[in-house]
Amino acid sequence: MSWSWLSVSSLVTRSALKPPVTRLYPIERRTPYAKTRGHILFVVDNCNFCTICAHKCPTRAIVANKKEKTWAIDHSLCILCGNCVEDCREGCITLSDQPCPPMRAKEVLQFRKEHDTPSA
Ligand code: SF4
Ligand code: SF4
Repeated sequence: MSWSWLSVSSLVTRSALKPPVTRLYPIERRTPYAKTRGHILFVVDNCNFCTICAHKCPTRAIVANKKEKTWAIDHSLCILCGNCVEDCREGCITLSDQPCPPMRAKEVLQFRKEHDTPSA
């Protein structure tokens, strides 16, 4: 029995006994690091359609229309700079630490505010 065969067999044995170095994705997912920029989340309820977020977006991923009371985002254009999150005074936009769900085609998410919240 040669030394090289012994060293290979010990390597194989050690590898077989070690736990796997990869995760069983998607069942087992890595916990995001702190401040991970995943994707933009938007809640229309408090939006006043001031369009500041759209003007501050460097890639024009956001389109807001005050007259139509609509807000839309194209996640394929978003570079997750966070400008819109910082500049929205109403707190409608947040950054999720989870990655954007996969898209099979270019998709623009549209939101429309049907009714203004009655003032107290
Ligand atoms: S999300 Fe915020 S910044 Fe953008 S239009 Fe609505 S209120 Fe204005
Ligand atoms: S994070 Fe930056 S690129 Fe993405 S929508 Fe907001 S302003 Fe635009």
